[in-house]
Formats: sequence, C-alpha cells, structure tokens
Amino acid sequence: MADVPVALEAVIFDVDGTLVDSERDGHRVAFNAAFEAAGLPDRWDVETYGQLLRVAGGEQRLAFWFESTGRSRGEALDLAQRLHRRKTQYMQALVTEGAIQARPGVRRLLDMLETNGIALHVATTGTRAWVEPLLHGVFGSRFHTIVTGTEVPQLKPDPAVYERVLQLTCHRPGAAIAVEDSANGVRAAVAAGLRCVAVPNAYTRDDDLARATLVADGPDDPVLVRWFQRQLAGGG
Ligand SMILES: [Mg+2]
Repeated sequence: MADVPVALEAVIFDVDGTLVDSERDGHRVAFNAAFEAAGLPDRWDVETYGQLLRVAGGEQRLAFWFESTGRSRGEALDLAQRLHRRKTQYMQALVTEGAIQARPGVRRLLDMLETNGIALHVATTGTRAWVEPLLHGVFGSRFHTIVTGTEVPQLKPDPAVYERVLQLTCHRPGAAIAVEDSANGVRAAVAAGLRCVAVPNAYTRDDDLARATLVADGPDDPVLVRWFQRQLAGGG
C-alpha cells in the first residue's frame, strides 16, 4: 500500500539526554552518592560513566559494574537492587534542588509545537519517582501523557514504552514523531513504527543513529527547527 501523508498530531520525547542534561550532573552524581552512603569505594568519573551508558537501565548498569569489578553474579544483582533504590532517592533530591536543566533550545521547540496544536508526550525508561517531579519542575504541565519505566519495565531498545504511549493516546505511529538522543532510544522508536529525530549530546555523539530520520546537533539546531516547521506545514 502506498504511503498516505498523515498530518503530524504528536511528538513523543525521551527524557534523559534529550529534554534535559541529566546524565553527567544528575544520574552519575546520584550513583556516586549511593556508593558513598553504602560505604563502597566505587566511584564513576565522567568518562567511565560515558562508557557505562551503553548498559541501559540504572539497576542493570550497576549489576554490570559490580560483576565486571569482581563481585559474584548473585552479589552484583543484590547490591544493584539496593543501590538503585538509594540512587533514586538521591536523584529525587537533585531534581528538587533544581540541579537538572533543560537542554538549550528545548523550550523553544516545545513552544513552537504547542502553538501549532501538537500534543506533547513522554516515553522514558526512567523511574516515575524522579521523572514526574523533574518534568513538572523544569517544564510545568505541558506533557499530556507520560509513560515511564515504572509502568513499562522493558528497557529501550524494546519498543514497549513507545507502544504504550501510542495505545494510551490513540495516535497512529505515522502521525507522531519521536525525539531521542541515543542509539537505544532511536531503535525503540523506530521499532514502534515511529519516525525519530536524534539530538545527540556529548555522551551519545558517537552512537549509531543511522535509523533516525534526521540527526541534528541538538534541540537548538536550526536544521531541526526547520525540519519541524516543514512537518507542521504538511511537508514530509
Ligand atoms: Mg536518552
């Protein structure tokens, strides 16, 4: 069947690294605080954390780290579960303190989409306990449907979190566009049948983003803004 052009109805955003700069000064700091509070010598510097980001999911990242630094599988899983709970509390505190900010250009992009009647949604594998206060604190109540890893435990690149947003909002995949910063995120969106634009950051600059419809320098890239303007005007 030939592709029939569908008007853009919605844009679905990833959170970590896409809407906000949360990895280096948010999650990494919270993980280190959790190590310290537990009396563990482990610490993640900026570069180490960048490498560990290839492991999706905070608890999985911790388990991988503990196993690769000599703990048994059982000990690694147990430690990861305990540390991740504590890390989530530190992340909530960082969010409350306002330590995590919008990426440059994000607010302007959201304004443009909203002004044009586009529904804004979120699909993240982050934990609702920090995602919700973060989105509310940084952006107010502009996101209509927010699906997190708390409701959908399958991590990206599994498309489940995007599929849940589509199911809840009744948008057809062709009428929505995803915005992601990483290879796992792009793969998840594309597997859910969505077009995806990529806005990589310093950590994901070298990711394989070949399946993205467009790879921009960031949310403030004029190329991205023009691309969205074309979609809003009904162009492909
Ligand atoms: Mg991300």
